[in-house]
Amino acid sequence: MPDITLEIFSPVHQLQHKLFDEKGLKIFIKRDDLIHPVISGNKWRKLKYLLIKAHTEGKNHLVTFGGAYSNHLLATAAAGAKFGFKTTGIVRGEDVQNDTLFMCRLHGMQLIFTDRESYRDKPALFQKYFGADTNAFFIDEGGASTEAARGCSELIAELPQLYQHIFCASGTGTTAAGIINGIQQQQLKTHFHAIPVFKNGEFIRSEIDQYLITPTDYSLHTEYHFGGYGKTTPELINFIKEFVASTGILIEPAYTGKMLYAIFDLARKDYFHPGDEILAIHSGGIWGLLGMRDKF
Ligand SMILES: *Cc1c(COP(=O)(O)O)cnc(C)c1O
Repeated sequence: MPDITLEIFSPVHQLQHKLFDEKGLKIFIKRDDLIHPVISGNKWRKLKYLLIKAHTEGKNHLVTFGGAYSNHLLATAAAGAKFGFKTTGIVRGEDVQNDTLFMCRLHGMQLIFTDRESYRDKPALFQKYFGADTNAFFIDEGGASTEAARGCSELIAELPQLYQHIFCASGTGTTAAGIINGIQQQQLKTHFHAIPVFKNGEFIRSEIDQYLITPTDYSLHTEYHFGGYGKTTPELINFIKEFVASTGILIEPAYTGKMLYAIFDLARKDYFHPGDEILAIHSGGIWGLLGMRDKF
């Protein structure tokens, strides 16, 4: 088995935009989307210590869970292919075909579709299909785990300067928790902001807090879900089109589009102080664009 490591290429780029000039702000973007073409962004950081753990326990079969458009399933398939693990994805819902699942299969992932009711109990599914497979290693939906939070905390040590604000899109909240832990470990005077991509995103606070090494203050901006997970509005789509066309940086509507929209909206509303430097984490996920082409 090859060493379980990727050389991290995730530069920070400053974005030029007249809104930020007018408000006396600087905005930067950390390009985690460039870490790997398929094992994208935060998904590599989340998988790293899980794969190392699986390898240490002598397990060579990763079993994980996700919806039919899951970036995590795809990242696990590609990481498995790269590092010599067999992979199985247990997919929520009826048997469908789409670009994400095609890419999972291409990387050798076996897919098992399961109804929404059974999908709720992931340990039971794991037991049912792989209880007898001593090589099978359970990875929760989205990779949520303390190992994943640990991997994400490493992002902070890579930063070239101090920022007053760091923003990240949140699904399970694990990435957010890891980044907050990283800020604490480095003792930075940086305020962290999570943008939940689900409706009623307040629930994510307890998800984040369970992974925090020390309880810390951070902000949740719950009003940027655009109707809920995977939902968009024409306003969000227009923002994304303008952003991509004016920066050359691909973003998608499920996560990074919502997070960047939030930063622009908050800047417009004078939420920040003149002189503030703001860092947006580009957490990747651009394969998800293909499944949303109808919205554009
Ligand atoms: C999975 C994902 C997230 C959410 O990460 P969590 O750790 O689950 O909060 C954010 N952005 C992108 C692009 C993702 O694919």
